[in-house]
Amino acid sequence: MAYKAKACVLCCSDARVQETIRAYIKEQEGEDGLIDWLVLPGPELWFKGVPGSRFLTVLFTLIGFSVALYCVKLLHHLHGFSRVYVIGHEDCGAYGHEEEEDSSEEISHHAHDARLAKSVLERWNPYVDVRTPFVCWKKSGWEVR
Ligand SMILES: [Zn+2]
Repeated sequence: MAYKAKACVLCCSDARVQETIRAYIKEQEGEDGLIDWLVLPGPELWFKGVPGSRFLTVLFTLIGFSVALYCVKLLHHLHGFSRVYVIGHEDCGAYGHEEEEDSSEEISHHAHDARLAKSVLERWNPYVDVRTPFVCWKKSGWEVR
């Protein structure tokens, strides 16, 4: 049976951040309503190429980009959500683990990729609200900013 989802969440497979992201989404979207989840390592990366060899960059860009966008489009067609979250996190293995905690270079790299993902999704569907929160590691635990 088809259903209407409130939002679609693209988040990382990393088990350390799952609970924090689910709590954040519940806070944003409320207790009721259904959420579609697309769980991919380094979700922002799926809208661009990965650093490394030129061959891998081109291959990943073509395949990854197509797969990610196809999944979002299909879920939107099936469940008609009005909001998409692309949620990356600090110390993401898909990006290569950080050398220095809270480095501004790492944060700005994620922010750049999140803006790219947002622009791709907004070009696909300007009526969908695209949000790109980021999960950081703090002494008290993972936290969404
Ligand atoms: Zn990750």
